[in-house]
Amino acid sequence: MQMRCYCVTGHGQPLELVQRDTPQPQGTEVLVRVRAAGLCHSDLHIWEGYYDLGGGKKLSLADRGIKLPLTLSHEICGEVVAAGPQAGDVQMGTVAVVHPWIGCGKCAACERGEENICMKPQSLGVMRDGGFADYVIVPHPRYLVDLGGLDPVKAAPLACAGVTTYSAVKKFGERIHQDPVVIIGAGGLGMMAIEVLKALGAKGAVVVDVDSAKREAALKAGALAVIDARASDAVKQIADATGGGARAVLDLVGATPTVKLALDASTRGGHVVVVGLMGGDITISLPIIPMRPLKIEGSYVGSLPELRELVALMREGKMQPSSVTPRPLGEVNEALEALAQGKVVGRQVLVP
Ligand SMILES: [Zn+2]
Ligand SMILES: [Zn+2]
Repeated sequence: MQMRCYCVTGHGQPLELVQRDTPQPQGTEVLVRVRAAGLCHSDLHIWEGYYDLGGGKKLSLADRGIKLPLTLSHEICGEVVAAGPQAGDVQMGTVAVVHPWIGCGKCAACERGEENICMKPQSLGVMRDGGFADYVIVPHPRYLVDLGGLDPVKAAPLACAGVTTYSAVKKFGERIHQDPVVIIGAGGLGMMAIEVLKALGAKGAVVVDVDSAKREAALKAGALAVIDARASDAVKQIADATGGGARAVLDLVGATPTVKLALDASTRGGHVVVVGLMGGDITISLPIIPMRPLKIEGSYVGSLPELRELVALMREGKMQPSSVTPRPLGEVNEALEALAQGKVVGRQVLVP
């Protein structure tokens, strides 16, 4: 039996439609029929082939061990249709979101349940084939989180946008209940972060973006205030909206001007969590780190237990899905193009 997959065969080239034999699950593997696959900003980086490290330096994905051809999409929901002989008791027909941040399973990080920071990642749609296909192989059924009747199209972004923002927001601890969280970037992750804050009963979000349509969408989703990142008084506007300066800033863009804005807008004891990978570099006066004092932290996707917590919040009705735009899988190149041009509000989810 043949299946379609849309693969990166050359960096920066349109994804190529490839017909392949549908893989048969071996060992502990399960075969999942894809019902929905989200398109994430990091798919753009993999497609382009590098991260911008600033100062003209680039981190090539080939150096990270990413090999072509590769089927993109790490935000996958689907139905279990077959399982290998060692997969154990797997219910056929279960519709689940797939945890894509898979590690080696043997190192200290994996043993702690932090497979997302394993040094030998096996992530779906990054190191192994992902969801822009009719079927995907998942290495073990434990990576499947049962949707319990949730819509797979709305749930797909939980696997990356969802668990990434959830894991990042949790790093702020109790202060989300004391102060508004400043969110820089109102794309797929930003809209999700607004929903995560609501689900956790947080004080709320002050959202910063350069795009007026995205600011509008953030207001509609319940942001306390929105601010144009390019306004000359953006720092003062953030101070006003947070009652004197931000104590929690989530930078979902991660570019030179946004990290700089995050640090400038932070008050004493401010905590900046950087998630975005747009790239660049900054120069920072070291005495301000201890004197202000600032906490600057990185956050990379999320863990399987965090994805389970997030799906539970949604199944209990505490967390609303953020806005998604379903598109047929055949439009994946148009979707990629739209994302590259920054024209997308919410998440594009491809449906085979
Ligand atoms: Zn992603
Ligand atoms: Zn590992």
